Amino acid sequence: MIRAHVYTLRPTPEQKTLLAQTVGVVRLVYNLALEQRRTWSGKRYVGGNSRLFGAKGSSQELKALRAAYDWIGAVSQTAQNQALIDLDRAFANFFEGRASYPTPRRKGINDAFRQVGREVSVRRLNAKWSEVKIPKIGWIRYRDTRPLRRGEGDVVDIRNATIRRSAAGGWQISISHRWDVTEGDTPVGAVGVDRGVAVPFAMSNGTKVSLPSTMAARDKTLRRAQRKMSRKRRGSRRYAKARFRVARLKARNAMARKHLAHVTSRRLVRDYGLIAIEELRTRNMVASARGTLEEPGRNVAQKRGLNRAILNVGWHQFEMMLGYKLEETGGILVKVPAAYSSQECAACGHVDKENRKNQAVFVCIACGAVDNADINAAKVICDRALTGQTAENQRWNTSLLDVEGNASAPREASTQPTEACDTVDALV
Ligand SMILES: [Zn+2]
Repeated sequence: MIRAHVYTLRPTPEQKTLLAQTVGVVRLVYNLALEQRRTWSGKRYVGGNSRLFGAKGSSQELKALRAAYDWIGAVSQTAQNQALIDLDRAFANFFEGRASYPTPRRKGINDAFRQVGREVSVRRLNAKWSEVKIPKIGWIRYRDTRPLRRGEGDVVDIRNATIRRSAAGGWQISISHRWDVTEGDTPVGAVGVDRGVAVPFAMSNGTKVSLPSTMAARDKTLRRAQRKMSRKRRGSRRYAKARFRVARLKARNAMARKHLAHVTSRRLVRDYGLIAIEELRTRNMVASARGTLEEPGRNVAQKRGLNRAILNVGWHQFEMMLGYKLEETGGILVKVPAAYSSQECAACGHVDKENRKNQAVFVCIACGAVDNADINAAKVICDRALTGQTAENQRWNTSLLDVEGNASAPREASTQPTEACDTVDALV
């Protein structure tokens, strides 16, 4: 299995300069090769071969460049070669219709370079810190938040490493490495997860995960910074400064959200072999709030706010994380249809919008069961997965619901006890 771990680098001031030089030169090489291919594509190159320039075709050019300019030669050749390989791939994607024509890499946006694994090594310094050796730059310290997995012969098998300047201005490294999955330690047990706006993740086991309170404060600061930015003249120095501030705040928020999704998904994958979530189409939800010309959506402003929040919480990201983390443990991710999961009682299966007293409380009007609304939904999601009402085989019978959507008839298999969510055995 190949996975990448991302770490925050702590380069020294000298190393920072070298990193900045490296991304600059690598970007230049990429853009020069792109320019050259644009100029010469379809023409016969005077050098004699009619082949398009590529990682191989340009390597002669690269050699010449490196020899002619000390500052180009001073930067890792592998990193430059990797950029040319990227360019080849970009052109291949273009010619095969998967992408548009390659565009030049831009400063501040494409500040990254890649090293091949055999030229990169890592060593541990202490419980918290490790360092990574990058050609021509040396050993750079990083906070070792998650140890790299060891492969054959108890060594870390690094495939490649990408170093990039983050939007927040710091340096990050993504180390891609390979190891073998050990079988036999898939946890038993199933859990349902309800993703929400007010509460990002609620679990059928009764736990909830909330966003850190610092985030609300940062959101406020961010909005203020955005207003300030909008008052500056575009292109001015003050504008650039304000934009950087906005970018940094956004990046911090994104990082906090991502961290939350990582921690939550990691914990779930460790404890459960089956994880059930709703199949969501966030993109459709955004479109439907806006409505159509003939039928404009109601409460568009509120809904837009809600939709923005939905997208912000990073549900899709969470889903991806669950997916690949479950691969590591041999567990499975089950997506169930989302219809009425917030109106259905997890205890008796009665579906009614009256069940939902408000955003937080669920009181079943049929059986009187009381629960937190998000936890109830998570239990319903888990039930659906265990009773085979998955989005995939669509066994969820919508005919049980009336046309208005105010389903009054109880669904079949409503007797599935919620305790079933404690074991995967209920599946068989
Ligand atoms: Zn009920």
